Amino acid sequence: MSLLGAAEIRELAEALDLKPSKSLGQNFVHDGNTCRKIVRTAGVREDDIALEIGPGLGSLTLAMMEQAAHVVVVEIDKRLADQLPITVAKHADDPSKLTVINRDALQIDSLPVDPTVLIANLPYNVSVPVFLHMLEIFPTLRTGVVMVQAEVADRLAAKPSTKEYGVPSVKAAWWADVSGAGVVSRQIFWPVPNVESKLVAFTRRQTPGDEALRKRVFAIIDLAFAQRRKMLRSALSSRYGGSAAAESVLSGAGIDATLRGEALEIGAFCAIAAYEIAIGS
Ligand code: SAM
Repeated sequence: MSLLGAAEIRELAEALDLKPSKSLGQNFVHDGNTCRKIVRTAGVREDDIALEIGPGLGSLTLAMMEQAAHVVVVEIDKRLADQLPITVAKHADDPSKLTVINRDALQIDSLPVDPTVLIANLPYNVSVPVFLHMLEIFPTLRTGVVMVQAEVADRLAAKPSTKEYGVPSVKAAWWADVSGAGVVSRQIFWPVPNVESKLVAFTRRQTPGDEALRKRVFAIIDLAFAQRRKMLRSALSSRYGGSAAAESVLSGAGIDATLRGEALEIGAFCAIAAYEIAIGS
């Protein structure tokens, strides 16, 4: 298998008359070593079905095809989706290992195969919603590595009581154990982005509850962080009809109502939602 280097990326872009779209977050990787390292970090096994969101010109896709049993990709840009099988036919040992879906990743709710590992250089403007959506719709995803803006990576992997901890951190923690997995030089992208990128690794954990609980938990998280400087009794007052009622729910759930949302781990948000259910709220 030969991977794509700077010369191939330039040739492909010229042949397609490709002007990378900022709104689609099109920054293409032209360093095969980095692609192989990402696939290694994700711990892809021979029997894995690997999912890639936004394959672009195919840099990561080819590295994924070296390791996985099958690779399914979801690409919103039709020109790129149409070109990919042609590129793969030239470079891959077994081009039949690829399935290309030309769709918006946020709009999909199933795929022809159930993926077990996620690897992606995510488009920057939808990276968090795409990441959370994939964890939600594919319970078969066991593990993975995504490349995102450094700031977003820090937020996804953040722990409570840090300034980076927020909605993405705590929602991601519902699905998975998430951790930082290193910095990526901006020189390996074309065009070179304005911001640093980082890798984020995840391993799925058993979710703390069912869909009904998750919906409540996510609604409480959104409210708690909408006014993150406020104490929980005040930030959640609209949900319970006043801050005294909020205080009563919080203390019933065993949570100090004077804390801020940023102090709570996912388990504490679950305790609040479970208490709501217990009291029929
Ligand atoms: N994986 C390639 C690489 O590393 O060189 C390209 C990564 S580039 C940062 C992001 C890719 O996601 C682009 O190919 C872009 O067209 C695609 N994309 C953007 N928004 C998308 C969406 N909502 N659904 C699927 N693909 C999307």
